[in-house]
Amino acid sequence: YHAKAEGNKYLFFNNEMNKQAVKRLQIENLIRHGLKEDYFEVYYQPKTSLKSDQLVGMEALVRFITPKKGLISPNVFIPIAEETGQIIDIGDVVLRKACIDMKKWIDKGVIKGRVAVNLSARQFTLPDLTERIDNILLETGLSPHNLELEITEGTVMDNPKHAITIMHQLRERGIHLALDDFGTGYSSLSYLRKFPLNTLKIDKAFVDDCGTNIGKAMIDTIVTIARNLSLSTVAEGVETQEQKDLMTSMKCDSIQGYLYSKPLSAKEFSRFANKQNK
Ligand code: C2E
Ligand code: MG
Ligand code: MG
Ligand code: MG
Repeated sequence: YHAKAEGNKYLFFNNEMNKQAVKRLQIENLIRHGLKEDYFEVYYQPKTSLKSDQLVGMEALVRFITPKKGLISPNVFIPIAEETGQIIDIGDVVLRKACIDMKKWIDKGVIKGRVAVNLSARQFTLPDLTERIDNILLETGLSPHNLELEITEGTVMDNPKHAITIMHQLRERGIHLALDDFGTGYSSLSYLRKFPLNTLKIDKAFVDDCGTNIGKAMIDTIVTIARNLSLSTVAEGVETQEQKDLMTSMKCDSIQGYLYSKPLSAKEFSRFANKQNK
């Protein structure tokens, strides 16, 4: 690097990097504090079957609500927590809370089906992941049949062999597995066949594009792949009736998105589910 020739650029770069490093450190500290003070909450987004128009489950989405800085988006803090390793503790908190809420709702007859919890790549590298999940299920009393885990293509393609082993362990217990944000990663079709999945989640980017011919063709392709592998499909980020109708015509199994509901607090979600049951 020629510091002399590009002196100004170097200085600028250095400042930018510095600012970023400070921001990351701040968030890392906020997360540590947030874990201690229990600032991580779980919100739930309803998932609806297109065949029956019934509520079939929900996705648990973490919310980091700080008294001073308000809501911090998962898109901001998850990548940092992933690097620092704090995602392990956050992941445990989210899974435990989701299992506690779901167990209560199942017992009360508020909802049937499964709660879907996102797993990060780092969690997937834990040698004792299955054991940790077993323990949380045991502790909370939730049946593995009421749990689904969402993993991304990046996570499984990091170390496909290891991923397949873990996935089989989870499936043996009755836990369902969904591949999240499908189509945005780089998993090859030959691998897809080897993963013991139940569901492909069609990324919002494709749903956004479903009005165009190419977008429609992409979704059609994903649904066809899923059908050939005996997997179900969920479209995420469905915002309009037109998108819903298109998903129905393309034989997608279920949808989630703002059309039905944004992610809701536990209290709001149980109200939503109760209304659906009437
Ligand atoms: P994701 O798993 O693909 O979750 C879907 C995201 O799309 C959520 O954003 C949700 O609020 C948003 N969404 C749902 N429907 C609509 C819609 O109709 N329109 C629009 N514009 N957005 C919609 P959120 O909650 O901000 O989460 C972002 C990402 O952060 C998630 O993407 C997931 O990758 C990650 N994440 C969230 N919670 C957790 C968690 O507990 N653990 C881990 N490891 N990752 C999480
Ligand atoms: Mg997800
Ligand atoms: Mg998703
Ligand atoms: Mg997504």
